[in-house]
Amino acid sequence: MPITVVGSIAFDTVKTPFGERERMLGGAAVHFSLAASFFDDVRVVGPVGDDFGDEQIEVMTRRGVDVSGIERVAGGKTFFWHGEYGWDLNSRETLDTQLGVFEGFQPKLPGSARASDVLFLANIQPDLQREVRAQLPDARFVALDSMNLWIDIARDSLVAAIEGVDCVILNDAELRQLTGKPNLLGAAREVLSWKPPAGAPGRGPSMVVAKQGEYGAALITPESFFALPAYPLETVIDPTGAGDTFAGGLVGYVAAHPGEELSDELMRRAMAHATVLASFNVEEFGTERIERLEAREIAARVEQLQAMTHFSAAPLALRD
Ligand code: AMP
Repeated sequence: MPITVVGSIAFDTVKTPFGERERMLGGAAVHFSLAASFFDDVRVVGPVGDDFGDEQIEVMTRRGVDVSGIERVAGGKTFFWHGEYGWDLNSRETLDTQLGVFEGFQPKLPGSARASDVLFLANIQPDLQREVRAQLPDARFVALDSMNLWIDIARDSLVAAIEGVDCVILNDAELRQLTGKPNLLGAAREVLSWKPPAGAPGRGPSMVVAKQGEYGAALITPESFFALPAYPLETVIDPTGAGDTFAGGLVGYVAAHPGEELSDELMRRAMAHATVLASFNVEEFGTERIERLEAREIAARVEQLQAMTHFSAAPLALRD
């Protein structure tokens, strides 16, 4: 099923303990698109300024991403983000965010993007996420990502956006901040209880994915819990976009199974593919590693992850 994604398309300046890059291609929608392109057709929607070149567009078109929904705003500046990571890469400080062309952006999905059955609302102002959701009222699977900034300054709008999606993908700290609940399961249960008001699109979230950085990710539904560790790596260079790449793997895997019910079993496999995609992303700066990634490398790592996380519950008579 074709996937439409809306979210930031950006230039990122990033410093990690292992180096730095100035104004490299980034943005939540870009990282997502590249990852999801390994699974199905992807249509990316969002604005860029005249500083965004053909070179950046080609990174996406080389992976077959449909870029006809990228709107070039004359005289505008592309979204810019500047971040710096601490020595263990677990802490990140945002030094600058310039919305540029996203200020005043009114999303209007082109015909092709409206025909998608799967929609990903990547990280961006939640009002924009809601406007896009309203333009795809019949989508079969809608997922959303966000971040602390929007919880801080636009929480009500973010809650309304979440009410309209099936799957919420957030960092565990963001889930706690969003709900005010210190316990992860409690926070996820709270989100799962949210329902859209009558007449609004959506059914209310039926699954929550809590991203836990280098510790992996958990999937929580009203009936079940599943968790995977991150794929172990000795060299991590730049975690920027890992969350969006994870989402691209998860949503892409769902989209690639159009006839299948969204069972727990399917979502577990989607979690494994998401985990593996994210592991490649962090091996180099920005989109560098994913640009060179090959399908067979993904398949091999999924197999290794399965071997690493499998165990048999051999019966043993335990002592009382
Ligand atoms: P992640 O590391 O998965 O959280 O995503 C990092 C990406 O998100 C970077 O490529 C940034 O361009 C983008 N980003 C950072 N801040 C924002 C924001 N406030 N809204 C939308 N995208 C953002």
